[in-house]
Amino acid sequence: MDHPENSEEYKGLQVNAGVEQMSIVNPYRKKNAKRRELSVNDYVEGILKGDVTILSRAVTLVESVLPEHQTVAQEVIEKCLPHAGNSIRVGISGVPGAGKSTSIDVFGIHVLEKYGGKLAVLAIDPSSERTKGSILGDKTRMEKLSLHPKAFIRPSPSAGSLGGVARKTRETIILCEAAGFDKIFVETVGVGQSETACHSMVDFFLLIQLAGTGDELQGIKRGIMEMADGIVINKADGDNIERAKLAASQFKTALHMFPEPESHWTPQVLTYSGFFGLGIQEIWDMVYKYIDFVKLNGYFEYRRSEQSKYWMYESINEQLRNSFYNNALIEQMLPGEEAKVLQGKETSFVAAKHLLDTYYNTLLSGKK
Ligand code: GDP
Repeated sequence: MDHPENSEEYKGLQVNAGVEQMSIVNPYRKKNAKRRELSVNDYVEGILKGDVTILSRAVTLVESVLPEHQTVAQEVIEKCLPHAGNSIRVGISGVPGAGKSTSIDVFGIHVLEKYGGKLAVLAIDPSSERTKGSILGDKTRMEKLSLHPKAFIRPSPSAGSLGGVARKTRETIILCEAAGFDKIFVETVGVGQSETACHSMVDFFLLIQLAGTGDELQGIKRGIMEMADGIVINKADGDNIERAKLAASQFKTALHMFPEPESHWTPQVLTYSGFFGLGIQEIWDMVYKYIDFVKLNGYFEYRRSEQSKYWMYESINEQLRNSFYNNALIEQMLPGEEAKVLQGKETSFVAAKHLLDTYYNTLLSGKK
């Protein structure tokens, strides 16, 4: 290779010829070696034994968009269902930079050391595609936990709508529980709808907030605060402690103005530092106290069954929507109908009716 930078005019700068790099392809691997296909029973057996490799492969099927994968995935889920449910599920939400991954790393180690068992960390991030953006549940963001033998960390499913992403995460919870994970964290980014989806699959919803300029309450939507079973102010360390305490008292005051939650639990507000590991114990004492409280008053079971009902309707909506939009005739007609509406030649109501009538007719005539 030529190295013009070695010429006289760049005297003093010496660039050596590089060495040839080794191939990144393993030369000993058999060509076309294919992973053995697993049957539904192989998956279920592996999962029930707690085999994490098989669990991961099953989650990959759940996330796949291929219909043949979905068929297997649904069968596996159904067989796992009787073995699921025996866990506590905690949703953890906060805006980017709030300290979710730092905190989950510390929270995870804390609960595993104090309560034993196994922990799965899942995520809902509709904006993430694996190649870009922040990836929630990314192992590299949870350094200690990712090395822990009792922890299973899985980034957010990437494809599709929020409903689709959330459904996959919910199904993954079932598989993890069947594999003996008795603590589930669901991480989500605090920007609105994904929090509602997260809230609809967890027993305890923890909101991570930061103290800041004194107007922190303005940026946070009332609906999100109402969902929280606990609000924790992170980064209460160094010269930020006082501000964190102030923020906590503002949140407490704000929470008092809401009606009493259905659970009859009064949401608590605590301060902590994920980075320095301060106040962690108090947070988990709170979560476990809540779980005892709602198990005793029946709300725990009630919330889970309400969630199942919610997800039944969500699945119906998702499947109807997919069936409609993937219908070949509808796909053909949509741009034209849209144009007519935009040009004012047709009202949106008429266009919608026309499309839906066409869709129902294709169903009746057996064409799809
Ligand atoms: P995420 O985007 O919500 O996952 O936030 P990260 O966990 O990546 O944290 C964002 C930044 O805040 C990082 O630079 C962390 O080092 C920092 N950070 C997280 N927790 C704390 C904390 O308790 N105290 C302080 N001072 N910084 C923290």
